[in-house]
Amino acid sequence: MYDGVVVGAGFGGLATALELARRGARVALCETLSYPGGCASTFQRDGHAFEAGATLFSGFEPHQLFGRWIREHGLDVTVDWLDPVVELRAPGLRLPVTRDRERFIDSLCALPSAPASSVRRLFALQRRVADALWPLFDEPDLLPPLGPRALLRHAARLRAYAPLARWVGRPLGAVLEHLGLLGFAPLRMYLDALCQITVQCSAMEAEAPFALAAMDYFWRGTGHLRGGIGRLATALAQAVEDQGGAVFMATRVKSLTPIPGGWRVETRRGELRARHVVANVLPQALMRLAGLDPARHARLAAMGGRVAQGWGAVMLYLVVRPPSGHGAASHLELVQEPGAPFVEGNHVFMSISGEADVGRAPPGLRTATVSTHVPLGTLSRMTPEEKARHVSAIQARMREGLERLAPEWMESPVHAMTASPRTFERFTRRDDGAVGGIPRRAGLVHYRDLGPREVLEGLWLVGDSVFPGQSTLATAVGGARLAARIASRL
Ligand SMILES: Cc1cc2nc3c(=O)[nH]c(=O)nc-3n(C[C@H](O)[C@H](O)[C@H](O)COP(=O)(O)OP(=O)(O)OC[C@H]3O[C@@H](n4cnc5c(N)ncnc54)[C@H](O)[C@@H]3O)c2cc1C
Repeated sequence: MYDGVVVGAGFGGLATALELARRGARVALCETLSYPGGCASTFQRDGHAFEAGATLFSGFEPHQLFGRWIREHGLDVTVDWLDPVVELRAPGLRLPVTRDRERFIDSLCALPSAPASSVRRLFALQRRVADALWPLFDEPDLLPPLGPRALLRHAARLRAYAPLARWVGRPLGAVLEHLGLLGFAPLRMYLDALCQITVQCSAMEAEAPFALAAMDYFWRGTGHLRGGIGRLATALAQAVEDQGGAVFMATRVKSLTPIPGGWRVETRRGELRARHVVANVLPQALMRLAGLDPARHARLAAMGGRVAQGWGAVMLYLVVRPPSGHGAASHLELVQEPGAPFVEGNHVFMSISGEADVGRAPPGLRTATVSTHVPLGTLSRMTPEEKARHVSAIQARMREGLERLAPEWMESPVHAMTASPRTFERFTRRDDGAVGGIPRRAGLVHYRDLGPREVLEGLWLVGDSVFPGQSTLATAVGGARLAARIASRL
């Protein structure tokens, strides 16, 4: 019998399996696809390698989780520190987000009619909140459930948490209003774009402490994974094996059944038994796998409901010719109409491979992954034909945005492929293609479920729907925290 079987090799599952194996547990990791990473993977098509979804990653400073793993497990990956990390573009505005935070704040303050002192007050508050919350990512042991040591550490940091108290349960919009910043359009646009890709809603709606911490996203060990994020996912799967774990690719888990002392895991290739099962899937998928009755698992069902009310992704995967002299990888956020919602092609995130990303495209070409959010609620009310029309209209809008705001990359596109929530559902088995976890719209509900999610004895949920969720680093932190919890029980 295994100590733990992990279902799914997304970053939540990879992290749990690696940390369990490192702690001496007997672990098996089952992944339905033939490669790891899930939403943060690199797939091959017609001689090109594309990022499937996620493209820009934090957590690579030496003291952060990915940085630590690279060092401790000798992972064969290279992080390119880009400068600017990202560029925000809208009609009449180009705002590079530099690696140097102060330089970026100066550039915001230098914009025409910027209320500079209020902008600086916002970033001063933001820094205090980010400095209070990011250490929880750097040390998963500080996340709930809190042991005596963690409680003492938190008690010693109480002063650091003070700036949060006033804003818990309130939206970032209230902070902007308080500081008189609602009328400063470039800042609003920057924050809407950043909140949409991090906490998965607009700045006006976003739960303030989460959003203020997320505003540090570009400055917390954030970089480009040379060759694609799939390199890190593959290196982590290899590290699981190096630590004595078993990794079964192309092995879909079909059902989970309780047995005395653990669980029976039925896979496409046979049966495994484990004391603990960790499901790196959506709550609704776990209920199906384990045959759980939603009426008896109301909290899990409610979590699934919140995920289903979130987002799908509409994608373009392009092969493009770089403008002359362009060597580094680039990440662009493009907004066509700053006053309209940052979804459905109005706002896109475009990530383009660099010269150093050998193997991503034939020499002289680059691959690009372009994404936008689509509300699943809208799609769910449509017939299949209406959905198809809606998704192609979004893709047309995305192309328009690229031609308008990133024309240097669109002069002679070589090849294009599209994807929709349906594609994500097919590949990552996420119901309705729901991605991005639970949107962090203001409310106390987000503080109710901060611990690892044990659904039944020895059956755990991990991934972007479980706190801290919602990014490659956050799901990995959640996995590492869960592994520590399970190991303490073994
Ligand atoms: C378009 C897009 C852009 C994004 N951009 C970024 C970004 O730039 N930076 C960032 O940090 N994050 C980004 N994210 C978010 C990030 O990708 C996710 O938060 C994270 O990768 C989710 O990881 P996970 O472990 O929760 O789940 P997943 O990645 O969904 O992994 C789950 C895995 O389980 C497997 N699986 C499912 N069911 C079974 C089964 N029954 N048996 C076996 N295996 C199974 C799936 O194949 C999959 O590999 C983006 C997401 C999307 C969709």
